[in-house]
Amino acid sequence: WCSETIAVVTGGNRGIGFEIAHQLAVHGLTVILTSRDSVIGEEATKVLREGGLNVVFHQLDVLDPSSIKLFSEWTQQTYGGIDILVNNAGINFNIGSENSVEFAQKVVATNYYGTKSMIQDMIPLMKPSASGARIVNVSSRLGRLNGRRNVKELIDRTVSTFLQQVEEGNWAAGGWPQMFTDYSVAKLAVNAYTRLLAKILSSRPEGQKIYINCYCPGWVKTAMTGWAGNISAEDGADTGVWLALLPPDQPVTGKFFAERRRKQV
Ligand code: NDP
Repeated sequence: WCSETIAVVTGGNRGIGFEIAHQLAVHGLTVILTSRDSVIGEEATKVLREGGLNVVFHQLDVLDPSSIKLFSEWTQQTYGGIDILVNNAGINFNIGSENSVEFAQKVVATNYYGTKSMIQDMIPLMKPSASGARIVNVSSRLGRLNGRRNVKELIDRTVSTFLQQVEEGNWAAGGWPQMFTDYSVAKLAVNAYTRLLAKILSSRPEGQKIYINCYCPGWVKTAMTGWAGNISAEDGADTGVWLALLPPDQPVTGKFFAERRRKQV
């Protein structure tokens, strides 16, 4: 890997995203650390640059289409494209709280639709290469597909049925996951979308391949868990970085991983 390999990390200002940006840069890549808050993102970037790493900052809010558009235009003009996209930005309000309409909409919008928008806008920018471009989605074991295969029909319809039931106040009877329900539904959609997109992308010719996978970082000590996790952000980043940098002779796509191992989800 070299400084001409361009990696983008969303939500890179803290937690697992910051560590993914850090570790990719340690491997010698140019990392575009993005954050919705420019001041905080610049500060995080400065920390890594002061460590001698090749990290640059750009503002990016995955909920804001104009922010995504500005970002992709800038990336195209500055680098001509990217090699690696890590969709890390995410939120979860449901620590001990009820499944409110406002929270459910925001959690699904950020974790699922934000990830999807980034992928759709970035795919045209992914540079052709012999080793294949990479997309890594930071997801969760909570988003269990339980063997469902007909994902093409499943994803957006499932997500909108869930949001509709939350609005109507009858979601509890809908058979949804009991723990962190909106977050689990959003990550289920990410896991299913990863699998679906891998199939769609697999028809791309040699030299223009894009490999897309997702992973669960574990229960990580970050703001999201109130620092109650059992592993560090460094360890939570590890499988994501490993997936982003998998050697080209081991192409893998559409799969879910944890602790560097493929898992059923
Ligand atoms: P943090 O809360 O520490 O970090 C979340 C990051 O996402 C922050 O940088 C946050 O920015 C950013 N973010 C949120 N909304 C947006 C948005 N609209 N646009 C851009 N960035 C946004 O959490 P973690 O580091 O723990 O989480 C990182 C990922 O790992 C998430 O996808 C999470 O779901 C996943 N994960 C985490 C687990 C854990 O145990 N911690 C377990 C399983 C999965 P800001 O600082 O501005 O809020």
